[in-house]
Amino acid sequence: MAQPSYMRACLLIKPGKIQLAQIPVPLPGPGEVLVRIEAALTCGTDVKAFRRGHPMIPMPAVFGHEYAGVVAAVGDGVEGFSVGLEVMGVHSAPCGNCFYCRRRDFQLCESLMDSKVLGSFAEYLLLPERVVRQNLFEKPPMISFAEAAFLEPLACVVHGIRRSGVEGARRVAVIGAGPIGLLHLLVLKAHGMEVLVAGRRKSRLEAALTCGADRVIDTEEGGDLRTAIRNWTDGYGVDMVFECTGQPSVWQDAIWYVRKGGTLVLFGGCAPGSLVSYDAGRLHYDAITILGVFHFTPADVLEARRLLVEGKVVPGPLISGEYGLEDVPRALERLISGDGIKFVIYPGTVQERKELS
Ligand SMILES: [Zn+2]
Ligand SMILES: [Zn+2]
Repeated sequence: MAQPSYMRACLLIKPGKIQLAQIPVPLPGPGEVLVRIEAALTCGTDVKAFRRGHPMIPMPAVFGHEYAGVVAAVGDGVEGFSVGLEVMGVHSAPCGNCFYCRRRDFQLCESLMDSKVLGSFAEYLLLPERVVRQNLFEKPPMISFAEAAFLEPLACVVHGIRRSGVEGARRVAVIGAGPIGLLHLLVLKAHGMEVLVAGRRKSRLEAALTCGADRVIDTEEGGDLRTAIRNWTDGYGVDMVFECTGQPSVWQDAIWYVRKGGTLVLFGGCAPGSLVSYDAGRLHYDAITILGVFHFTPADVLEARRLLVEGKVVPGPLISGEYGLEDVPRALERLISGDGIKFVIYPGTVQERKELS
């Protein structure tokens, strides 16, 4: 089936304003692949951009970056992808020869952010050669498009957990029960950890229990989280804490939840310029490691894909509902008001989907 020359796409015009527009379907150049989006997911970054703008998301422009779909067209020289193949991928890939790539710190590639592709809240997405070569894969039939679209956030989580050296840990705490906190929970359970999740909102904590949390703590109920975590660990503190809120106060408090010799992994990004301070005695005499983590490498994407494909990570409980492209603003508004974890955006309307199925 030939693809049309125009497609429906969500344009983020300015914070708070999204327009559903008809724009030309891009044509793949050498090495590029055009994907017909079957499912996209909302992400915290999209919510931030919609709420108050985001330095990494230009406006006005197409946006959305988590996706899975079907190959609609391929450019010259593309190998391994043919029209009709079901695919899952991420929206960025490292260059392979900058200062950081040569040191294998691919997550810090100097042109990572400039070369990333946005626009999964649309009927089609054109993937650059770099992504096609490194971070695009066949989607096996045993996972749905919506599940496959978790590849990117899951790769970020896999990266931080891999760098933490979690193998030596047994009891860990995840602070924050949003989508990223819950993905941490799923990966840590896949590693066989006992996991405590502390966060807000009943629905999210219920999702944490569904995802296998051994203990959940509602931080809105008051009470001292430090004491609760100590009580859960015979007074010692957990082996590792994964901070997933991006709040400076939480970054600071989290140092008190780890045992001596433990590791605090800072995943949630605070606004640049935020200052945090730590008790020097805790860091030195209690030999605590603090680890900052960001983004992912192609190896993390492969591992995330393995976890999804082998059913080691089943992200279904994180999906709070599904919408068509015209309802992207509604999905983002629900997330801003604290309702829901992640929404699936199907490029067809919900009505069209009902008629198809
Ligand atoms: Zn994302
Ligand atoms: Zn590079």
